[in-house]
Amino acid sequence: MVLRELWRGKIWSVRPVLVVRDSPALLALYLPARTVWKRPRRPDGGPIRLPAGDWRLEDHRQTIDVLRLNAPGAAHSVMLFWKEGHAEFIGWYVNLEEPPRRTAIGFDYMDQALDIVISPDMRQWHWKDEDELQEALAAGLFTPQQAAEIRCEGERALELLLARQPPFDDGWERWRPDPSWPVPRLPEGWADVAPPGEQAHGGA
Ligand code: MG
Repeated sequence: MVLRELWRGKIWSVRPVLVVRDSPALLALYLPARTVWKRPRRPDGGPIRLPAGDWRLEDHRQTIDVLRLNAPGAAHSVMLFWKEGHAEFIGWYVNLEEPPRRTAIGFDYMDQALDIVISPDMRQWHWKDEDELQEALAAGLFTPQQAAEIRCEGERALELLLARQPPFDDGWERWRPDPSWPVPRLPEGWADVAPPGEQAHGGA
């Protein structure tokens, strides 16, 4: 399956993922270390944080194991990070993002800058990239109302965390992949798949 980030119709990132669960209650996707995905870079090859100006995609090899949990419709994912081979649980991460939209090959969504970093034992947490959200607001990438909604969604996710509501109480930190699973690879044609609700080749 393929996870694409799309900003105003242009691809911002592409990740091949393994499906752990795809049910009405939960979408769980796994990105093992050594997965090669497409990340955005400035045209000169430098790092880029926000989808303003031009960018191109380059291959990037992931160094940690990542499990993404998303309750369908929720505007955030809860991620779990491990050192390669599940050698050590690094912690939890709330990624504010658009609810995923199903495509012919997987899901499309877009990151929404703000994140929450949570310690492995859940005793400590902090906001991450608040400056990036402010920058995005200043650059007109989000409206003030959208920025407020993103922060509200983060606060809702924090409530789940602090109340030990799912997925924070489900033992996901003890989850392990089937050892026979391969490192996922991008299929051909990932760039040509139409976003949901659009014609593949321009339509009318
Ligand atoms: Mg993020």
